Amino acid sequence: MMRSMSERLPEALQKKLTERLSLYEDLGIRLFYKDRGGSHAQSAFTSIADSLEASVPPKIYYEDAALPKTVRKPESSRAAQPAPRAMPAQVAPKSNPLPVPEGPSLFEAFYKVPGDTLLKIRADLGECTRCRLHKTRNTIVFGDGNPNAELVFVGEGPGHDEDMQGLPFVGRAGKLLTQMIEAMGLQRKDVYICNVVKCRPPENRAPEKDEVAECSPFLLRQIDAIAPKVIVCLGAIAAQTLLQTARGISQFRGQWLEFRGRKLMATYHPAYLLRNPSAKGEVWKDLQKVMAVLGLEARKGKSAEAGKSS
Ligand code: URA
Repeated sequence: MMRSMSERLPEALQKKLTERLSLYEDLGIRLFYKDRGGSHAQSAFTSIADSLEASVPPKIYYEDAALPKTVRKPESSRAAQPAPRAMPAQVAPKSNPLPVPEGPSLFEAFYKVPGDTLLKIRADLGECTRCRLHKTRNTIVFGDGNPNAELVFVGEGPGHDEDMQGLPFVGRAGKLLTQMIEAMGLQRKDVYICNVVKCRPPENRAPEKDEVAECSPFLLRQIDAIAPKVIVCLGAIAAQTLLQTARGISQFRGQWLEFRGRKLMATYHPAYLLRNPSAKGEVWKDLQKVMAVLGLEARKGKSAEAGKSS
C-alpha cells in the first residue's frame, strides 16, 4: 500500500518541501511529477504537460529566429516564463538575471531510483506503447554510449536514420555531433547520447507534450543512473524539457545551469547547425566550457575549425 508523505519523510524535510512547493507555485513553476509511488511507480509522472500547459505556446520553439519550427511569442509574455535554475555563483555568469530558487530541487528529493541501471531502465521501458509514437516507429532508440560517461548529450528525438538503426544521432546531424565530440578530444564511446523521446515522431515533427511526459521519466532515470558530471542539451526541446521552461534557448544557451545537482549546458542542435553553419562558433564556445569542466583538451587538427567548418 502507498505510504503518505508524512509516513515517508521526517518532519523538517516535509516542511522544507512544502515551503519549496509554495515558492514554486508563486513562481508559476508546477511539479514535474505527481507521485512515483503506487502501482505504476515508474510511470507515475505527470506532465511536463501539466506544467507547460499554462505557459507554452501550442508549438514549442525549436531554436532561434529564422527556424521553420519556431513560433515566436511576444517579448512580454516570453519574459514571464519560469527561469531555468542557474548553477551557483562560481560557475554562473555574474550578469545572469534569472530568478533562481535556492536549495535542493524537488526532483532530487523524490525521484531517484536506488540502484538503477541502464539495463533495468531498458527492461522497464519494454516494447513501449505508452504514447502514440509507438504506432509509427520502426525501432525504439534507447540511447547509446558509455554507461559511466562524464558527459551526456540529450537530443530531441530519433529521425529516420536513427529509427532504422536503433541508435541515436547516426544521420547527418549525428555525423556533425560525432565531429563535435571528436573535436572535444573524445570519441562517441566515451560519452552517452540519448533523446527526450525514444521513438521517431512522424515526419520528424517536434514531440508533443504528452509524448514527452510519457517518455522523459526514462530519460531522467538514464541520467541518474549514468550520473554524469555534465549534461549538454542539444536544442530547445531537450533544454526546455529538462529545465522545465518555455523560454527560448537563446536566453540561456551557453550558460551553466543546474539539473538534479548536475551541471547542464544548453546549446544549439546539430540539425540547426546544418542549416545555420555560422552558429557553429557559438556551439564550439559552449563546448569549450564543457571541456574546461571535464579537463579536456581539443584534439589536434580537430579543434574549433573542425567544429566550425561546414
Ligand atoms: N536528432 C535528434 O534530436 N536526435 C537524434 O537521435 C537524431 C537527430
